[in-house]
Amino acid sequence: MSGVRRLIRTIVFLGLLGVIGFTLYNVFFYKPKVIGLEQLEKLPKVKDVTLTVTPRSYVDLVEVKAFQGPKEVLLFRGRLPERTNEVTFRVEPQVLGLRNGPARVLVEVRRFFLFREGFEVQATVDVDPPRIRIIYAPYRVLQGGSGGIRVKASEEVDLFVEVGKRRFRSFKVSEDNTYIAFFGVPVDASPREVIKVVAVDEAGNRTVVPLGTGIRRNRFRRVTIDLSRRENLVRTKIYSLLGGNLENMDFVTAFKEVNEKLRKRDEERIREIGKRSKPQRFWRGRFLQMRGAKVLSYFGERRRYVYKGKVISRSWHLGYDLASVRNSEVPAANSGEVVFAGDLGIYGNTVIIDHGFGIMSLYAHLADFRVKEGDFVKKGQIIGVTDMTGLAFGDHLHFTVLIDGYEVTPLEWWDPRWIRTRIEPVFSD
Ligand SMILES: [Zn+2]
Repeated sequence: MSGVRRLIRTIVFLGLLGVIGFTLYNVFFYKPKVIGLEQLEKLPKVKDVTLTVTPRSYVDLVEVKAFQGPKEVLLFRGRLPERTNEVTFRVEPQVLGLRNGPARVLVEVRRFFLFREGFEVQATVDVDPPRIRIIYAPYRVLQGGSGGIRVKASEEVDLFVEVGKRRFRSFKVSEDNTYIAFFGVPVDASPREVIKVVAVDEAGNRTVVPLGTGIRRNRFRRVTIDLSRRENLVRTKIYSLLGGNLENMDFVTAFKEVNEKLRKRDEERIREIGKRSKPQRFWRGRFLQMRGAKVLSYFGERRRYVYKGKVISRSWHLGYDLASVRNSEVPAANSGEVVFAGDLGIYGNTVIIDHGFGIMSLYAHLADFRVKEGDFVKKGQIIGVTDMTGLAFGDHLHFTVLIDGYEVTPLEWWDPRWIRTRIEPVFSD
């Protein structure tokens, strides 16, 4: 009996020893670390900071202090929540009496009410938001049209133009922090939409300035396309675009798949390519229109596709369809660098030329290519010939202008007067 008791006592003793040993090990050898300290390096006017303690190692309290000269201020003091190991707090240096300039931030974690671990960060306080002065902005822009601005910032900033959900980047054009940006207004933008310029400085201070540029309503045609009348051609096109094993899909489903899903996929690809624009101006003067061509379709057309008397799908036509004789030569609308020459789904064989500072031109449904990616082309140089590759029901060129990958009407870019009065001021001091 006593032997069993002794055994139990030994087991309990060893167990306790294990627990104590494990705890001591945790306390002395398994020290906590703090993740996210780099957020404290730059302190703007307002900043929300989230610090994570890992491993937890019995940490119960987190304390964050800032030191600047003789000044010592508390940024945060609080318990570490059980589940998340995370504390979030807002830092407002000005409210705490910190001034612009260097500061030292100390993050301390407390364990068992007495052990403290400290982590130090060299911080810079900058509570001044950037100031921006608009040197040029257009008075009004058209739905589906383009605009450009020239602004000067009080310091180096990340600057962009916001039009609804679209964001257009800017390019720094001189060392005195002058920036230019081009933007495109969506065809369905509300004339009440406020176009804004947003500037964010290195510390994270943000300035938003409404541009004061109005949006003018544009008139777009409504067009109905009857698919029943060319069902065989459409059928061949859509099944080959969907690629293989879809013989069981009915015509209507297949058409919707191509006109909606593939269209979206290809537009996303165009946006992606649009981001590759170089910070240089490659072009001069008005953009060229294909010679002797007739306009088959206009920019901004609202298309309804009808099959057997029913509307089965819709789309916006965001380019010009230009038709001439079969396999007409297609000139580059302006000088630039070829950033894409290849198959682009519903656009068929496509060439995209970068003219710099976010502006590109796109040529779709071509037969083949006379240029390749990386080539520099001169205005008027032949880049390919027209055809009906992709989702085209006849030989024509689908032409559009892109800003940051968003389609805008080429009509303005074909107009020398518009270029002179609306775009040239963006480039001049
Ligand atoms: Zn088209």
